[in-house]
Amino acid sequence: MATPTVYKNFINGEWVESKSGATFENRNPADTNEVLGVFQQSTAEDVDTAISAAAEAYKKWRLMPAPKRGEILFKVADRLLREKESLSQDMTKEMGKVIAETRGDTQEAIDMTFYMAGEGRRQFGFTTPSEMMNKFNMTIRQPLGVCGFITPWNFPMAIPSWKMMPALICGNTVVIKPATDTPLSVVNLVKICHEEGIPPGVVNLVTGSGSKVGQPLIQDDRVKVVSFTGSTEVGRKVAESCAPKFKHSCLEMGGKNVQIVMDDANLDLAVDGAIWGAFGTTGQRCTATSRLIVHKDVYKKMVDKMVDAANKLKVGNGLDASTQMGPCINQGQLDTVLSYIEIGKKEGAKLMCGGEQLTGGDYDKGCFAKPTIFSDVTQEMRIWKEEIFGPVLSIAPFDTFEQAIEMANDTEYGLSGSIYTQDVNRAYTAMRDVNVGIFYVNAPTIGAETHLPFGGTKNTGNGHREAATATLEVYSEWKSVYVDFSGTIQRAQIDNQ
Ligand code: NAP
Ligand code: MG
Repeated sequence: MATPTVYKNFINGEWVESKSGATFENRNPADTNEVLGVFQQSTAEDVDTAISAAAEAYKKWRLMPAPKRGEILFKVADRLLREKESLSQDMTKEMGKVIAETRGDTQEAIDMTFYMAGEGRRQFGFTTPSEMMNKFNMTIRQPLGVCGFITPWNFPMAIPSWKMMPALICGNTVVIKPATDTPLSVVNLVKICHEEGIPPGVVNLVTGSGSKVGQPLIQDDRVKVVSFTGSTEVGRKVAESCAPKFKHSCLEMGGKNVQIVMDDANLDLAVDGAIWGAFGTTGQRCTATSRLIVHKDVYKKMVDKMVDAANKLKVGNGLDASTQMGPCINQGQLDTVLSYIEIGKKEGAKLMCGGEQLTGGDYDKGCFAKPTIFSDVTQEMRIWKEEIFGPVLSIAPFDTFEQAIEMANDTEYGLSGSIYTQDVNRAYTAMRDVNVGIFYVNAPTIGAETHLPFGGTKNTGNGHREAATATLEVYSEWKSVYVDFSGTIQRAQIDNQ
């Protein structure tokens, strides 16, 4: 077997080894014999060097006119577009989702980079009249400094770009720690940033574990903004680390997303939506449909159609274009999925299909689970309440629309929700009353576009939004500027009375 490529950290414009001298392997979850490369097992010392580089580079980068920063981002976006296919192939190999979806992930990074490049010529503030004569009032956005990013493995290029591109266009510099399962996609992104003209020190990459790299990154006083996407459990720790120092922290965490199907819904459309929502990315999306609630009059029909469709899904290696669902990210995640299936069975939910690991032939090389559906799930069950992050869907019936809304909101999370109905009044009522950050009508719970705010309510987030212009609030602070050209002292609230 060929010796795997060694990938390094990227600090101050150079590819460097960790001072630890240690590395870790990145394996393909569809074929765990395949090693995609070895990556640096970094430590706090490497993080310190990266933060120093980012702090130094900030001095110049913040002063570069934003349209000029935007010109570099346009080049980065163009290059991502040209290399979309190879970037997507690398991503499927390192995390397993099917090639059509990794192309979508890369496209999201392209869209976000073009979008934020354009923000170089916007980032609008406002001017507003003064209370005084001969005085001018305006607002401008100011960058904050070094941003520390901790990203998950399920959107290995899209999520890093959602954080990096707005941070950079606002004039901040970056240190990113990618998920241990997916460092290659971030290496690819950072390499393109460098080769297309982002100056040394502006973007830095340090690979390694959450505890050895993530923690020192978020605890360092020089890091002014922390943006984290991942589990609610780790997000809480990140928030606790940021709070004493009043760091900006943007947290995007778990979900337990619901699709509501009314009795007047187009059932075939609702099935297509729920299958894509529940089993796309092997259910490993923060916006995955994990609860499907169906009006009792169409419940049996809907469950039968769902089981039929789930049984037909082709599971396998995502590089084969005919594959519809790839593996779980790793053995640990597969074990979690299998344990929740046991929990569901013990709790008395009806296992309708799947329910086990896929074995035999090529399946033995990877971490494959069957698409799994439980029906007759009740609100007390753990599979109703807890995020599984795998190909397991819970279905439950309801009687009335009001009950559907109550059930939809019966969760500690608030990321996305959807309703299938032909009734415009119900669609709008659900849009208003389902407590989530993202809502869909006659569409699945997944499918966000980069120019709309992304994020959730309750335990999904801490009130911030990524994407759209909303994300500029995370990476800049307002400065209000008053210019008095009266030549006299004018005391606010006093001299204008
Ligand atoms: P995770 O275990 O929380 O890991 C996320 C990131 O945090 C990884 O880079 C991880 O590093 C790092 N990390 C782990 N422990 C840490 C610590 N103590 N201090 C600092 N960093 C630490 O989550 P995951 O399993 O990768 O991702 C799945 C979760 O992400 C799900 O809950 C999902 O809902 C959520 N998610 C949310 C969104 C959203 O936008 N709302 C999007 C995607 C995913 P290592 O990889 O080295 O462990
Ligand atoms: Mg991997």
